[in-house]
Amino acid sequence: MSDKEIMEVAGIKVQPGTIQRGSIPVLELADGTPISLPLILINGAKPGPRLYIGSAIHGDEVTGIGVLIEALKRIDPKTLSGQIIAVPVQQPLSLYADHRLPLAQLLKSPLDQSPSDAWLVFPGDKNGNVAQRFAANIFELIKTCKYAIDIHTPTRGGRYVPIAILPASKEKNFSDVLEFAKAMSPGYIMCNDTGIYVENGILCVECTRAGIPCFTFELGEGGRLEDELAQIGATCVLNGMHWMSMIDVKPTPAKKTYIMKQFIGLRAEHGGLLYTEAELGTEVSKGQLLARIVNVFGDEVQRVVAPLDGVFVRSTTLSNVASGDRVATIGV
Ligand SMILES: [Zn+2]
Repeated sequence: MSDKEIMEVAGIKVQPGTIQRGSIPVLELADGTPISLPLILINGAKPGPRLYIGSAIHGDEVTGIGVLIEALKRIDPKTLSGQIIAVPVQQPLSLYADHRLPLAQLLKSPLDQSPSDAWLVFPGDKNGNVAQRFAANIFELIKTCKYAIDIHTPTRGGRYVPIAILPASKEKNFSDVLEFAKAMSPGYIMCNDTGIYVENGILCVECTRAGIPCFTFELGEGGRLEDELAQIGATCVLNGMHWMSMIDVKPTPAKKTYIMKQFIGLRAEHGGLLYTEAELGTEVSKGQLLARIVNVFGDEVQRVVAPLDGVFVRSTTLSNVASGDRVATIGV
């Protein structure tokens, strides 16, 4: 990239050292309302890599949008080396629903809208259903980048420590992804070879396979906008950008980093009110009490304990649970 190179994305031209806002039309609702992906383009004054940052592919994950906004606020295009493509809302129909999924589409016609979760259907299909169209448009942007960050919170009722959840170790760019995650320094890194986060079709898995190292960055809680976490997340994004030599700001690494290999989800065996007893983010030892379930008569019906030594990485913030609901997750 030359010093004077103009950035052009989706027909939008961005001069070096400037920011442009725009959008990419994706589809049209029944009344003709156009639905677009909001776009923020930053063309740094100096040459460097292009980074993709996306949030809210699940509509209740608003703290992710906060992370993206805060990170971009701290970047000065006049000193930036490289370019940024940011999509603060990767699935606008889910944001309108304030839900993980675009409920109006899904309720109208579940079969036509299956698969319904854009996060799961990468690389997507521009001639496919709603989820596949969003994924295809996002993937087209990501393919022009060197690295990508996909920001999430758990869905409503769950709360994560700031954690990088990596694609499986068999992926050929895995070592790059791990270095990237360490550089962002969220404090918790999951290198898990099984489960939903490493499956085919997941945004970060397909991007990493396409040569753009990416992981799922989770923090906070669905349905809640928390500025303190947005600041922490933004710091992680900037740490990553420093590692990519895009900015000259001194990184702020986490005080301690846990690299884990497996999630262990613990579920309720009885229905009742959920009292979480352990502190999220702390080390827990085998047999330690994590949560209690008390039935509606006031009797304690279950004590949920850590089955192994590990780290308490995800809590359940729902006030009541039924048998089978997840109540806590530890990383080991
Ligand atoms: Zn999500």
